[in-house]
Amino acid sequence: MDKSIKIRTKNIFFSYQNNRILNDISVEFPEHTLTAIVGPSGIGKSTFLMTLNRLWESIPGAAMKGNVEIRFDGAFQDIYLPSYSLTSLRRSVGMVFQTPNPLPMSIYRNVAFPLKLAGFKKKDYIDHKVEEALTRAYLWDEVKDRIRDDAFTLSGGQQQRLCIARTLIMEPQILLLDEPTSSLDAESGRIIEELLISLKERCTLLVVSHYREQVKRIADTVFEISDGHFIPGDTIPVSPEIAE
Ligand code: ADP
Repeated sequence: MDKSIKIRTKNIFFSYQNNRILNDISVEFPEHTLTAIVGPSGIGKSTFLMTLNRLWESIPGAAMKGNVEIRFDGAFQDIYLPSYSLTSLRRSVGMVFQTPNPLPMSIYRNVAFPLKLAGFKKKDYIDHKVEEALTRAYLWDEVKDRIRDDAFTLSGGQQQRLCIARTLIMEPQILLLDEPTSSLDAESGRIIEELLISLKERCTLLVVSHYREQVKRIADTVFEISDGHFIPGDTIPVSPEIAE
């Protein structure tokens, strides 16, 4: 497996209303790996993910210093350069949240939505991409006969896989997942764990997780955030905050 560095951060400092959350984080994430980010609630895990796709920029009172570089086509690019396109960043760096957030429309239209937003119009092409994304998200077989049904007729686990498919349709190189199984039952969570492992072939994944057993099952590397710093997994003390 190619273990080239995909993302590197340099000296990231982050605060909300002058309250320091991240304190001088310099870290590298290799391509085609899954890194778990753990730590107690409120320590800054979601905030760290948001520094990698600039999602924090619309939050009043939030401030960041430091660099985030992502390697695209063999060259590192500073995603905070003013010339860097936010649209292309959001296509390359997909994000999935704790609670599934389908749009109030059919299964098909949910998955096709980002392509349509990007201006794609050819029905055959969109049909093909929808099937491909749903297949990669382990959902196609379950929905192929009801693709025009409302997305809210799906179970919670299926809705989360739908949201993953909606992200995958843009072929992101990086996937950020913020506690993607926390709102699901154990069986639905296990399907998503397997799915995430399979996605390493195409993507570099960063997963915030609260579940120690899950982290053991899926992560190549573990970092804990503690007091604003990253602690590499090998030295992580067993934290009571990381639930079974
Ligand atoms: P985690 O993901 O580890 O639970 P977060 O990154 O969500 O932690 O939050 C880190 C800290 O920043 C918490 O103390 C939280 O209350 C605070 N915080 C998060 N979002 C905001 C915001 N929009 N405005 C002010 N403070 C915030």
